[in-house]
Amino acid sequence: MNPEQINQLSWPDSQLLPAIVQHAISGKVLMQGYMNQDALQHTLQSGNVTFFSRSKQRLWTKGESSGHTLQLVSIDSDCDSDSLLVLALPQGPTCHIGTETCWHDNDANSPQLAFLYDLEQVIKAREGADPKSSYTASLFAKGVKRIAQKVGEEGVESALAAMAGDREELKNEAADLLFHLLVLLRSQQLELADVITILKQRHR
Ligand code: AMP
Ligand code: ZN
Ligand code: ZN
Ligand code: ZN
Repeated sequence: MNPEQINQLSWPDSQLLPAIVQHAISGKVLMQGYMNQDALQHTLQSGNVTFFSRSKQRLWTKGESSGHTLQLVSIDSDCDSDSLLVLALPQGPTCHIGTETCWHDNDANSPQLAFLYDLEQVIKAREGADPKSSYTASLFAKGVKRIAQKVGEEGVESALAAMAGDREELKNEAADLLFHLLVLLRSQQLELADVITILKQRHR
C-alpha cells in the first residue's frame, strides 16, 4: 500500500479500520488495533506501526514508551477494503504484559511452522553460552566442521530411514536434520528466512 491509496479505502463513519498485525517471518498474529487515515499515513511514512488509540483518543505509535516498536514490512487491505493486514518485525514483546503476542502463548494457538522460527531464536540464544550448559551451545563451541558433519550424518540417516520404509524413524531423523541445519545456518550468520527467499525466487 502507498499513501495515495489511503482515501480509496472503505472508511466507516467511525473513521477507524481494524488493523491486524502479523509477524512478517513467523506468521504469528501479534495484536489488533485500529487505524484512522492519520495513523495509516504515519505508519507508512515512519515505518513504525501507529494506531489510533480509542482509549487515549490520539495517535499511538506502538512502543512509544516501552521501546517495543513494530517495524513495518508491508500493509495490505482486504477484498472489500475495510480491514488492514500489517506485516511487521517486532522489536521486543508486542503485548503490554510482556508476551510475544496479545493472545495466550501456547502450542494450540501458534501456527505449526512458526515453531521453526521459535526454535531458530532459541538456537541463536545458545550461541556463545557455556558449552556445558546445553547441547546446542556445545555444538557451536566445537565449530562449523562438527556442525556440518552432523548435518551430513542426519541427512544420510534420513535417507536410510526412507529407503527402509521406516516412517517413524524418518520423522525423527528429519527432525534431527532440520535442527542441525538451523544450527549450521546460524553458525554462518544465516537464517531460515534467507533460505526461504531463495526458494521464493526459484518459484517465480
Ligand atoms: P507502548 O506503546 O509499548 O510504549 O505501550 C504504551 C501503552 O500502550 C501501554 O502501557 C498499554 O497501555 C498500551 N499497549 C501497549 N501494547 C499494547 C498492545 N499490544 N495492545 C493494547 N495496548 C497496548
Ligand atoms: Zn472486509
Ligand atoms: Zn496485549
Ligand atoms: Zn539422527
